[in-house]
Amino acid sequence: MNEIHLNRARDPAFIKETEERSGQDIGTCYQCGNCTAGCPAAFVYDRQVNQIMRGVQLGLKDQVLSSVSLWYCLSCSMCTLRCPNNIDVAGVMETLRHMAREQGYITAPKMEKFWMSFLDTVRAFGRTYEVGTMALYMMRSLRLGTDLDLAPAALKLRKLPFIPHAATAATGRIIERYMKRAEKEGKRK
Ligand code: SF4
Ligand code: SF4
Repeated sequence: MNEIHLNRARDPAFIKETEERSGQDIGTCYQCGNCTAGCPAAFVYDRQVNQIMRGVQLGLKDQVLSSVSLWYCLSCSMCTLRCPNNIDVAGVMETLRHMAREQGYITAPKMEKFWMSFLDTVRAFGRTYEVGTMALYMMRSLRLGTDLDLAPAALKLRKLPFIPHAATAATGRIIERYMKRAEKEGKRK
C-alpha cells in the first residue's frame, strides 16, 4: 500500500482542473472513510479512494495520477452512494483516470488497454460487446488466450453473444457529442 506523502510539491492548478472537470467540490471531503469502507476494489488498490481524495485536496498531482487504483476502479458508484457530503466520488475517479491517460500517467498499461478496447466496442456498437472487447484486448496486450478458460461457463450462461447488439440512435448521439467536445478541448487522443 502506498501512502500519500504530504511534503511533495503541490499543484494548485491540478486541484482546480479536477474540480472543474468532475463538477465536484472536493474540499468538502472530511476524510470519514465511508467511500473506502464500501469499495469492492479496495483490496487491489495501491492508494485507497479516500487517500486519493485527500491527495487531490492537497494538489499532489504526481502521487494521485500515478496511482494504479485509478485503473482498477470498477465505476460501481458505491463510494458516491456512501459519501455523506454528496460528492460524486466515482465521477472524480473517472475524471482522474482520463487526466492520467491524457497526461501520460498510465501506471497499469494492461488495464488501460482493456479500458480502450471496451470503449471502442461501445463506440462501434452502442453498448458493450464482450467478444469484441476481449479480441481487441488480446491483440493490444498480446495476452493471446487470456481468460479463455472462463468462456465455457460464460457461454453456458449466454453471457457471450457472438453477434453485437445494435447501436441505438441515442447512444450514437451521446458518443458523437462527447467526441466533438473532446476534440474542441484538445483532449481527444
Ligand atoms: S465518503 Fe466522502 S467525505 Fe468521506 S472520505 Fe469519502 S469522499 Fe470524503
Ligand atoms: S466506483 Fe471505484 S472507487 Fe468507487 S467504490 Fe466503486 S470501485 Fe471503489
